[in-house]
Amino acid sequence: MPADSFSFAFVAAIVGSLLVKLWLHTRQMRHVAMHRGAVPAAFAGSVTLAAHQRAADYTLAKGRLGLLSITVGAAVLLAWTLLGGLQALNNLLYDTVLPHTGPMGYQLALLSAVVLIGSLIDLPFEAYSTFRIEQRFGFNRMSWRLWCSDLLKGTLIGALIGLPMAALVLWLMGAAGAMWWLWAWLAWVSFNLLLLVIYPTWIAPLFNKFVPLDDPELKTRVQMLMQRCGFASKGLFKMDGSKRSAHANAYFTGLGSSKRVVFFDTLLQKLSVGEVEAVLAHELGHFKHKHVLKRMVGIFALSLAGLGLLGWLSTQSGFFAGLGVVPNLAAPNDALALVLFTLALPPFLFFVAPVMAHFSRKDEFQADAYACAQADGRDLAQALLKLHEDNAATLTPDPLYVRFFYSHPPASERLAALPVPKATAQAAETSLGLAGVG
Ligand SMILES: [Zn+2]
Repeated sequence: MPADSFSFAFVAAIVGSLLVKLWLHTRQMRHVAMHRGAVPAAFAGSVTLAAHQRAADYTLAKGRLGLLSITVGAAVLLAWTLLGGLQALNNLLYDTVLPHTGPMGYQLALLSAVVLIGSLIDLPFEAYSTFRIEQRFGFNRMSWRLWCSDLLKGTLIGALIGLPMAALVLWLMGAAGAMWWLWAWLAWVSFNLLLLVIYPTWIAPLFNKFVPLDDPELKTRVQMLMQRCGFASKGLFKMDGSKRSAHANAYFTGLGSSKRVVFFDTLLQKLSVGEVEAVLAHELGHFKHKHVLKRMVGIFALSLAGLGLLGWLSTQSGFFAGLGVVPNLAAPNDALALVLFTLALPPFLFFVAPVMAHFSRKDEFQADAYACAQADGRDLAQALLKLHEDNAATLTPDPLYVRFFYSHPPASERLAALPVPKATAQAAETSLGLAGVG
């Protein structure tokens, strides 16, 4: 394929995805601003105007930052590729690192440099989000000190885990022949499965404290629920989420014997025992319906397709030239191909996002239905309502924005789908864009 075709497809995807994203974000902000004046009728009895307006302001503040970061992201992508950024960086490392370290050192240096520069560009956005927006709405609990220590820790762990994996993939690309991508995929899958096992037990505790759920009443209720649902009653933990944020959440993680359900302490503070039980029943619904397994299989299949595509692209000189890079003559081009591919892919993947979001929302409805069968649906409705209000999630999202970006159904749809008596449903009919409750 000629270089021009690659350039054209790439630019079309960047510009297309940028315009669609900006359009959707603007729609969302306009919709929320337009409905800021009054609590929607369905929620009139259960949500105060002040809470409704706080949620609107929070959504708008995040939306403004989103518009900026989307635009900067597209500009950075163009700067890396067609404007010559990656080419300049590659020339520099080719001249300075390659002679000292040989091909593998040079390739790892290239990958690391691209990742580091990308993270540096993201930093101001993250800092602004945490210390301005989250702070302003009373969610942030982090000091600059904790933020910096998280950053250092994350970078160090990322390097410890990521560099050996990158070295393995680069080695396979060079040594495993034309079918390298199949081997790389096997390595990638094993690596992810390993990560799933070690993350909850080894990595997450480096950032948070996890203690077994200790409240005796809650513990009994939870054990009975788990028995009812056919789960071994171990692996229930409380996490000190309040260390970083007032947002409340619950999630499950891990694989096999490292499988666990994690409740944020902020969630336990806000919900009654019955409500926590309902939230747990929702999480168990995800287990029962094998949502995690299905998603994992889907991601592995997609990454096989992706690596196969990269296997072909890396043999096309037009792929490099079309994205603004001249391939090396005296060193392998595998790291360059990897970088170009990971930079170029997201604008194309963006158009798959609504499909993923659709399935995710479907899973949420299924988990809710399971929770209502195993626990009290009124408790679930009440929990969703509380979490929604505490997380300042908007009650009036733009319907199209929801289709594209929401991994959880918006409040009105989710509560309406709960099989609970009408009166309660109305009282609770406020809830959930539910940023929480994975
Ligand atoms: Zn869920």
